[in-house]
Amino acid sequence: MPLADLKQEALACTRCRLAATRTQVVFGEGNESARLMFIGEGPGKDEDASGRPFVGRAGQLLTRIIENGLKLKREDVYIANVVKCRPTVDGLGKKDRPPEPAEVAACSGYLRRQIELIGPEVIVTLGNPSTRFLLNTSEGITKLRGKWHDYNGIAVMPTYHPSFLLRNGGDAGNTPYKRDVWNDMKQVIEKLSVS
Ligand code: URA
Repeated sequence: MPLADLKQEALACTRCRLAATRTQVVFGEGNESARLMFIGEGPGKDEDASGRPFVGRAGQLLTRIIENGLKLKREDVYIANVVKCRPTVDGLGKKDRPPEPAEVAACSGYLRRQIELIGPEVIVTLGNPSTRFLLNTSEGITKLRGKWHDYNGIAVMPTYHPSFLLRNGGDAGNTPYKRDVWNDMKQVIEKLSVS
């Protein structure tokens, strides 16, 4: 099945309760033959409104990591999330929350097929939900980040979510978490340059 057909299927999805409260399904975007894929948690307010992943404040930081750090264009990579619809507290559309296990389970087939169709060489997981899902672990991001892991033969580098960076010292200055992300991205550059 081509990626465009999978997207059409996702746009009509009612497999979990997030379908009832979403404005738009945020399937993912980017180069469909990307060598590098980023996977976040789930859409927030700006993504739900626009139908595009990582376009809010955290998304702008992710774009800077891709463009200024990795020296790639945002259009060259593929960006997706574990869940394709915005999870909010009590479904009220106000406060974002992490996806629940049942929502991740209902949505996981889309992400698995997306990865299969795109076939990246490297996946960067951003934060706990995507890292735990892909690596099938309950271990936390602090332990897992900075080291290579495997998902079906694809190299996986977990790193901190850009929202976490924004909450902990922001984008300015040389905070320890920012340094960690930069070190993780250096490993990604290295991996992509030798493979
Ligand atoms: N945070 C995410 O995890 N994904 C988005 O698309 C936006 C913010």
